[in-house]
Amino acid sequence: MPDVTVLVVGGGVAGVCAAVVLAERGVPVTVLEGRSTLGGRLNTRAVTLTDGSIQPVDHGFHAFFRQYHNLRAVLRRIDPALDLLRPVPGYPVLHRDWPAEDFGRLPAAAPWNLLALLLRSPSIRLRDLRRMDGRAALPLLAYHPERTYAELDGVTAAELLDALRLPDRARAMLFEVFSHSFFNHEAELSAAELVANFHFYFLGNAEGLAFDAPTADYESAIWRPLAGYLRRRGAEIRCGRTAASVAPEGGGWRVETGSGADHRARYLVLAVDPPALASLVRASPRLAAAAPVLARRVARSGTGPPYAVARYWLAGDVAARRPVFSGVSRQPTLDSVTLYHRLETAARCWAGRTGGAVLELHAYACPEGVPGPELAERMRAELAGLWPEVAELPVRDLHARVERQAPAFRPGDHADRPGVATDADGLWLAGDGIGTEVPSALLERAAVTGIQAANHILRRIGAAPEPVRAIRRYGLLARRR
Ligand SMILES: Cc1cc2nc3c(=O)[nH]c(=O)nc-3n(C[C@H](O)[C@H](O)[C@H](O)COP(=O)(O)OP(=O)(O)OC[C@H]3O[C@@H](n4cnc5c(N)ncnc54)[C@H](O)[C@@H]3O)c2cc1C
Repeated sequence: MPDVTVLVVGGGVAGVCAAVVLAERGVPVTVLEGRSTLGGRLNTRAVTLTDGSIQPVDHGFHAFFRQYHNLRAVLRRIDPALDLLRPVPGYPVLHRDWPAEDFGRLPAAAPWNLLALLLRSPSIRLRDLRRMDGRAALPLLAYHPERTYAELDGVTAAELLDALRLPDRARAMLFEVFSHSFFNHEAELSAAELVANFHFYFLGNAEGLAFDAPTADYESAIWRPLAGYLRRRGAEIRCGRTAASVAPEGGGWRVETGSGADHRARYLVLAVDPPALASLVRASPRLAAAAPVLARRVARSGTGPPYAVARYWLAGDVAARRPVFSGVSRQPTLDSVTLYHRLETAARCWAGRTGGAVLELHAYACPEGVPGPELAERMRAELAGLWPEVAELPVRDLHARVERQAPAFRPGDHADRPGVATDADGLWLAGDGIGTEVPSALLERAAVTGIQAANHILRRIGAAPEPVRAIRRYGLLARRR
């Protein structure tokens, strides 16, 4: 093994997946993470409640879909049987006026899942299908990694859905919750990205729209074990080190982490969130001079709207029939609700002790400038309109946050999206906003691009790359020429 060193900036899923693959091949790798713990948007913090108890609070509930093959392969390093994940039954979508629909109990593989959905869903009848514009619907079934973007990246997801002429109920129940889950407003999301995600989550995988979630907080279930795994393989993890700038130097890279501290390595992986990547590149004129394409692409790529997460500790439980996780359609703010006290160990213990409930409410694309506690109250009021018992349950504690870290997927962005490989020699990018030819999104996009960044380095030094698994790359009706 040549004596090369690698710096990975960012200790979220993307950075840690890159570090795992490198450390396993004996490459000396150091992870620089700005916060005090690993995890990024999947991290956990400790919150002290008014009753004095300390509760682990995750950044937000995450669904670990079964087709996240690359993320799961990394998690198997710390838990070969993946016991840390437990199935979350069902995927119901709630609406104020219509009965809930469950997307979690469909056949796994296409086209049977689609047929079952169309036959079973009360939102769509045979006569509606006749009224729909079949030509407009075709792209949903014909995902193609180049053609879909060539044809649809200039159109918004909202325009594509308008063109389908779906009945209002079908659009609300079948599509709107799905498209909101990508942290962008429908009117600002590329139609090509919606089609790619429809393929990745629904039509292109053999696992179905099914997911699992950890039963312990993410720090205990994932980050502490992964940090131990990395350290045992010689990797260094330095938290509380925010990269202020990066520059090429002496055939390698120098990363400055505030107060003049420097870190040097032959190779560099930037695995930070989209707004952090933009400000790091802005603060690094020598990087921009060495890699004009990278600088232009990063400057053009945007950040999605703010998202809000509210964790409520309530004095009393919701009805026993309420599902652990539900998507919510057509509420002004609320997009999902998770019953943490029926999912995660610490919340379950708190609820068992107090007779209360722990609810987490998410809004994936919020208006600008509204404080977290106000968004939390809006979401709670909207939930009370769906589940009346919520209005009767006094609030014992609230942990509310509003943040802005998700990538934008605007129409027209695709051709210029930063990819894993860059025009900077010895520097690669990873993260959920980074483009890759492997069908993926969110957590799995972060894992795939992290592994791909590591593979570029491994090829340079003549070491075996890590296999990257992909679901089917083309839609059912895509012509492959
Ligand atoms: C509320 C919520 C719910 C979600 N639900 C789901 C879900 O159900 N399923 C799913 O698949 N995905 C979900 N996601 C998306 C998922 O969290 C992200 O796609 C994924 O975590 C992105 O990982 P990443 O490594 O690319 O970025 P991040 O997790 O953002 O990691 C980047 C890291 O870089 C660090 N950093 C930034 N700047 C610097 C710097 N200058 N120096 C050093 N370090 C720096 C950050 O502190 C951070 O730790 C959800 C996200 C949110 C917010």
